[in-house]
Amino acid sequence: MKLVDSHCHLDDKQFAADREAVIERARAAGVEYMMAIGTGDGPQDPETAIRLADCYPFFYATVGVHPHDAAKATPETFRPLRDLLSHPKVLALGEIGLDYHYDFSPRDTQRSVFIRQLELAREAGKPVVIHTREAWADTMQMLREHYTGAGIFHCFTGGPAEAQEALDFGFHLSFGGVLTFPKADPVREAARIAPLDRLLLETDAPYLAPVPYRGKRNEPAFLVETARELAQVRGIPVEELAAVTTRNFERLCLRYTG
Ligand SMILES: [Zn+2]
Ligand SMILES: [Zn+2]
Repeated sequence: MKLVDSHCHLDDKQFAADREAVIERARAAGVEYMMAIGTGDGPQDPETAIRLADCYPFFYATVGVHPHDAAKATPETFRPLRDLLSHPKVLALGEIGLDYHYDFSPRDTQRSVFIRQLELAREAGKPVVIHTREAWADTMQMLREHYTGAGIFHCFTGGPAEAQEALDFGFHLSFGGVLTFPKADPVREAARIAPLDRLLLETDAPYLAPVPYRGKRNEPAFLVETARELAQVRGIPVEELAAVTTRNFERLCLRYTG
């Protein structure tokens, strides 16, 4: 089985002590590629995921300012992002978006930093990885007004209506551990209605571990659990689901590696 973890934070401090072992377990579990998300500790260090991608042939990276860190962005934040977007192993800009649940940055700042980065992605012609929490309507409005191109809704936790809106906009839906949670019926329904060629898998490690690891530190090897759940939702063998989602990732992101 070949899987892709399209969204993980392996630069996180929680992996400082055993990162090598975590990566080995991922490979042993069939995780063919991992996309390391470059938001890290904030805009002062935009290369945190690239450092991982430079070390391993099966790691790719993103760069971007997370909505939580929007208030830390300065006018100097964006030029390096633009330069780093042309790095051959940087496949996407993200995760960017809006988070009105935590509100760690003021909402108008989140919106302006989001828009600025949508413009960068459009210029670079690379996809965006979207984080949206309790901000669905604003996220879709910003996308419609400021973006044309490909993208991924990461850790998709909406229901079928939101899924349809995202799909109509041409985006992919990436499902994580939440898909395995008992109360996530609307998320499973969203996963059921989406075309197979728009589905991706992710862990968002170290966050949101799937059942039966829920509450523990998440890691890419646990992607297998989410893959099994998604295969069951779709009524197809897990090997087929793995092959389809891997192909989707390759088609969407790997064509930018040249
Ligand atoms: Zn996120
Ligand atoms: Zn994330």
